[in-house]
Amino acid sequence: MKILKILIIVFITFFIASFGYFKKDAIACELIGVTHFNEVSPDFYIDQSIDTSKQVELSHAVESAFKRVSDIYGTPTSNPRIIATAETKYAKFGFNPTGMQNSGLFRECIFLGPKGLSTNVIAHELVHAEVRHRTNLFVELTQLPAWFIEGTGIKADYRKPFLSKNINVTNDDVAKIKSVFYLSDFPNTNVKYYQASLIALEPMNPKDMYSGLERLNNGEQFEDVFNEFF
Ligand SMILES: [Zn+2]
Repeated sequence: MKILKILIIVFITFFIASFGYFKKDAIACELIGVTHFNEVSPDFYIDQSIDTSKQVELSHAVESAFKRVSDIYGTPTSNPRIIATAETKYAKFGFNPTGMQNSGLFRECIFLGPKGLSTNVIAHELVHAEVRHRTNLFVELTQLPAWFIEGTGIKADYRKPFLSKNINVTNDDVAKIKSVFYLSDFPNTNVKYYQASLIALEPMNPKDMYSGLERLNNGEQFEDVFNEFF
């Protein structure tokens, strides 16, 4: 009996620890209110590294990012929690120094690092949040290829390498990135594959994205909904 109890405790501890490990971003997002980050407007958190003038600038960037995403795809409904810092030390905990988007336990979250305090990065992450918000987990894991997720984000990201005049990828690059399904396999250190994702996305009318995601949620297949890609 005692052994059984110990085993149960070990199992539960292991379960909680691994959940904490794999979901650390989600937990960080949910618990940000109890840290030294301050909520300066609803669901917008910053730390001391962002002074008042930077904060004003950042609020404007968030506003223009929302507007940009609305203009491209239609009004976003996700209202993600945005957490921003100009501090570099969080990178060692796995937080991308530019920006990253994750699902929290109860909401979508965007982490912005020192290199990501701009309309471009915010708009990019906002699209990721919107796509996740509009799709259920099953669709996210089985229907959405990595190039679609990245391509839709980059469409709202006007940083230099993503402007059409600076993109020079081959059909092979596009075919190669279209063969990658999982985000974990996406060659995310190579700008060429982000560019190729944007090119792969070109046949889609962005105004149809939300309704397409809705159809995926209703059980239709990616190939049938977004048949312009095939
Ligand atoms: Zn992205």
